[in-house]
Amino acid sequence: MRLRVLSGVGLAAVVVIAGGCGSEPAPTSSSGKADTAAQTKQTRAAKVAAAAKVKANELGQVPVLMFHRVIQNPTTTDDRTPEQFRSDLERLAADGYVPVTAAEFVTGKMDIPAGTHPAVLTFDDSSPSQLSLDEVGNPKPDTAVAILREVAARHPGFRPVATFYVTRDMFGKTVREEQAETLLWLKQNGFDIGNHTRDHVNLRGKSKKEVEEQIGSIAQQIGALAYVKPVTLALPYGNQPSRKEWAARGKLGDVSYEHAGVFLAGYTPAPSPFSRSFDPLGIPRIRAMDKKGDCAQFCSTAWLDWLKNNPDMRYTSDGDVTTVAFPKFKDPFLRTTYKTRALPY
Ligand SMILES: [Zn+2]
Repeated sequence: MRLRVLSGVGLAAVVVIAGGCGSEPAPTSSSGKADTAAQTKQTRAAKVAAAAKVKANELGQVPVLMFHRVIQNPTTTDDRTPEQFRSDLERLAADGYVPVTAAEFVTGKMDIPAGTHPAVLTFDDSSPSQLSLDEVGNPKPDTAVAILREVAARHPGFRPVATFYVTRDMFGKTVREEQAETLLWLKQNGFDIGNHTRDHVNLRGKSKKEVEEQIGSIAQQIGALAYVKPVTLALPYGNQPSRKEWAARGKLGDVSYEHAGVFLAGYTPAPSPFSRSFDPLGIPRIRAMDKKGDCAQFCSTAWLDWLKNNPDMRYTSDGDVTTVAFPKFKDPFLRTTYKTRALPY
């Protein structure tokens, strides 16, 4: 009976029947196969419908924001006050962004709800204004980490994650145990630790040996203190070495480093990691700044306005980390390595 229904009615009916007879004996192997195929087809159709519903665009652009110090009295245009930083985050939350780490971004593992947009928060130079722990081991008020956690608590779903690009400054800690405590706190609380070279040197024009020394030595230190192998690197001043591959992989003594992504310092949103325009060796970031002076067009406020006004250019998640969903006409922009995960609609 069951088999006759299968051959007569086709695949759409199979799922209905299978769903309605949960207590019956397991199907024979041939109808089992048909069931599975039908289920796969139906699951895929549901995924396509869900992606279309939220206008998923996982080939769209992602803002990677670049922060430095968060201090009460800024001395450079790279600094943000705690109030400014709070409002930067509030704006991201209001615009439907969900933070992901740089490591999650470059490896294409951005697990955020359907209809939301990823944003990467990056902090350069490992300053104490980003994270300092009090005597019981909690982030001090008004540090970047404390503010991020405070805003996240007000907006359920806004993940308190970020990437910290570390130099020998080590959040102002000079004692090894305190350096370890700070890095381990980040690791244990879901934050991402990246490489920013040991002495914050301009790598442009440096020999391969010098590049490997600068990147390898801080990688060694981060590894020894927190058992972390950075997945990404941020280039000091955004300057690439003579061969940009040197920033991605190299060796110092018996320690090797390998970065899945290398970040620049300016001046546009980043291509999706699934897009053909994505260059893992030179990923742009955006300075966190209001629309003033040279930031009228190319810093965070201006770009967030632009992304909001150009939703078809912005990355929107379909809520399924295993697929890469996008409108069919964008198919030529898909990186071939992600073809098997593609979900055009
Ligand atoms: Zn820096």
